[in-house]
Amino acid sequence: MIGFQGAVSEHVSAMERALAGRGSVVEVRRSGVVPDCDGLVLPGGESTTISRHLDRTGTGEEIKHAAGSGVPIMATCAGLVIISSEVERETRFEPLGLLDVKVKRNAFGSQRESFEADIDVAGFQSPYHAVFIRAPAITDRSDRVEVLAKVDGLTVAVREENLIGLAFHPELTTDLRFHDIFLDLVREG
Ligand code: GLN
Repeated sequence: MIGFQGAVSEHVSAMERALAGRGSVVEVRRSGVVPDCDGLVLPGGESTTISRHLDRTGTGEEIKHAAGSGVPIMATCAGLVIISSEVERETRFEPLGLLDVKVKRNAFGSQRESFEADIDVAGFQSPYHAVFIRAPAITDRSDRVEVLAKVDGLTVAVREENLIGLAFHPELTTDLRFHDIFLDLVREG
């Protein structure tokens, strides 16, 4: 769990629930920890701030290395912005360039700063209740990226091999289906 800033404790509890004792969660706030992790979560928060911490501590480079060697990553909201390859109209930081998508920050505009929606997700048998908070959206992607869900025509959930990118906050509901997909990838690895 990348733990510099944002919805970290909520993510830790949700992941602990999903793990149900079959693994442990550590909060990463310095270099040297990422190389020992079997899976990584990049929580939501403020992407500019999180990005600054990743640069300062060298954990950004460690995350790139882990992703390149196949370690599963679940990146949500600001985390999705951080692992993307391009952020529209963003000049303050460089995303890590792991997930081959272009994202737009705060894509749903100020009138819909936060909202909830029942979305259809590829592979899910029933709708998923998603919580969006100043959410980004995916505006472009390479063919390797699979779209898992859309809202208002905007892509909000994708997967590219070991990388899962979600524009919403799966840690804020009791539905752990995305966590289960992520943990299946971790166990396969
Ligand atoms: N708008 C935020 C950003 O781009 C993300 C919001 C969130 O993570 N809830 O940094």
